[in-house]
Amino acid sequence: MKRILITGGAGFVGSHLCERLLNEGNEVICLDNYFTGRKSKIVHLMDNPFFEVIRHDVTMPYFIEVDEIYNLACPASPIHYQQNPIKTIKTSVLGAINMLGLAKRTGAKILQASTSEIYGDPELHPQPEHYWGHVNPIGIRSCYDEGKRCAESLFVNYHESNDVRVKIIRIFNTYGPKMEPDDGRVVSNFILQALQNKDITIFGDGMQTRSFQYVSDLVEGMIRMMNTTDDFIGPVNIGNPTEFTMLELAKNIIQLTQSKSNLVYMPLPEDDPSQRQPDIRLAKEKLNGWEPQIDLQEGLKKTISYFKEIISEN
Ligand code: NAD
Ligand code: UDP
Repeated sequence: MKRILITGGAGFVGSHLCERLLNEGNEVICLDNYFTGRKSKIVHLMDNPFFEVIRHDVTMPYFIEVDEIYNLACPASPIHYQQNPIKTIKTSVLGAINMLGLAKRTGAKILQASTSEIYGDPELHPQPEHYWGHVNPIGIRSCYDEGKRCAESLFVNYHESNDVRVKIIRIFNTYGPKMEPDDGRVVSNFILQALQNKDITIFGDGMQTRSFQYVSDLVEGMIRMMNTTDDFIGPVNIGNPTEFTMLELAKNIIQLTQSKSNLVYMPLPEDDPSQRQPDIRLAKEKLNGWEPQIDLQEGLKKTISYFKEIISEN
């Protein structure tokens, strides 16, 4: 049995990771300040004596003896990370420093949930890990993008200078059950709008692309990455390479929900990346043939069922 700390454990991805690692017989400590996370996502785990929950902000140091740390604490949706940009930077940078310090003192292995936002609005398509990216350092997304880029630098430097056992994964757009209805990201927005026959809000002309990964595929990739040998630190892309335009996504969701919604076109937010698709060859090679198992149709159906339940409860 390993003792594992998950920062951001009450969030969308973190709550799935807590559940999976507990089910595998580990002791799991979930640390969260509930900025975008909710106790309701982890309440069903609280009867398990091997699960602990700590209300704490990663911008402040925290000490605990653990074997592994998954560092997920950080709002991921543009509307949430732009709400308080300075806090977002502090969460990424001070959070990384505090958790790396903990890993250094305890000898724990630590995995950073980095992001495809490292690549900004990419000029190289699909994006391999060796691409340095195309990020506006002073734009509205920079608090998130540059915060995560600085965190990657900290991870690499703690490894080089202090022998900390680090792992970096770059996560591409992930969706699934346990997303918050007010999350603001595209999949949850479109599904909720479609289920309620409300207008579907397409930003820009809807021709920008994303590649959507179902959450269980991400969790599998994270755990495989944590279990690689110490000489492989990444970064490694974890995402589903099948690429869609936002218009295709909207039409797909309308069809699956048999919705009467209309499409409405709204201004494209500043610096919105025009395309995004992971090159996952490195993940396949290093993570024992890891590749996504759930395609968009199947993943959307599961996510639609979840949001139907949420709507019926309210
Ligand atoms: P989320 O917003 O649902 O979860 C983030 C969690 O971190 C929440 O529980 C929140 O309360 C917590 N948190 C935020 N600031 C904190 C702080 N200062 N101290 C302690 N806890 C704090 O987002 P998510 O989709 O679950 O993303 C999890 C991680 O994965 C994030 O680091 C995100 O950047 C990364 N990521 C996610 C995606 C995606 O598509 N879901 C893509 C790329 C990267
Ligand atoms: N988007 C959209 N309508 C919405 C929400 C988002 O058209 O209601 C678009 C957004 O402009 C972006 C894409 O969907 O091009 C993905 O947005 P999301 O916020 O989910 O993630 P990110 O931009 O961080 O990849």
